Amino acid sequence: MRHGPIVTCACGCGSTGHNEGNGYITSCYDRWRGAGYPKEGPPPARPKTNPWRPTGPRGAATLALYGQLVDQRATQARIRREIGLSDRQILRYAAAWRAQQESEANQ
Ligand SMILES: [Zn+2]
Repeated sequence: MRHGPIVTCACGCGSTGHNEGNGYITSCYDRWRGAGYPKEGPPPARPKTNPWRPTGPRGAATLALYGQLVDQRATQARIRREIGLSDRQILRYAAAWRAQQESEANQ
């Protein structure tokens, strides 16, 4: 079951993904279920130590294009159309883009 709409996760983790239930993305929903559905929501995620990064000139160009589209507040459908990626791949670029923005903000 990975058919929910793309949402920003309701647990406050800041991630986007398919709504698996109750507004939580799959990984957070799985933690929530694993913890026995506590009222306060999913337990905190383990910190990501090794986020995926695009490699090679094509990956870097795709990531830059993704960033441009985000800056233009492009919809998910438009991003998918213009970059020509699957939802799953777009989520990976979204995570890589956020990681890049955060590392730039910390410099
Ligand atoms: Zn979450």
